[in-house]
Amino acid sequence: MKQAVCPSCRTANRIGDGDASAAKCGRCGDKLFSGPVEVDDAGLQSHLAMTDGPVLFDVWAPWCGPCRMMAPHFAEAARRLEPSVRFLKLNADQNQVPRSLGVRGIPALILFKGGREIARHAGLVTSDQLERWVGEAIGAQAQKEMQR
Ligand SMILES: [Zn+2]
Repeated sequence: MKQAVCPSCRTANRIGDGDASAAKCGRCGDKLFSGPVEVDDAGLQSHLAMTDGPVLFDVWAPWCGPCRMMAPHFAEAARRLEPSVRFLKLNADQNQVPRSLGVRGIPALILFKGGREIARHAGLVTSDQLERWVGEAIGAQAQKEMQR
């Protein structure tokens, strides 16, 4: 990933060739990657617009049992896949994006790249399943881009 949004101040940061997992925000000094980030509609749009790599977000709600069960798996997958993939969480009760994307059931995992949705998964997954699914979706997308 060459550009990412700071979870704290939402400034877009260029990432150099060094270790991106240790990269810090040029404006506020916070780490750019430290696990899943809870965002609202506007925060999600910032990340989607200004991240040049894949962005995965988990649509969840506090009352949803399977969502709570998946949370540690989502965090574990973030530990493995960041900073190659940005991990976000979006509360379905407090935001409009899930409805505008036609999300019917939660938890729902939605993967964006280049500002477009490239894959979606409904229902509970483990960290292993999640990691595999993200890898396959990104691989399939890369193949499509090469054929263009
Ligand atoms: Zn910052």
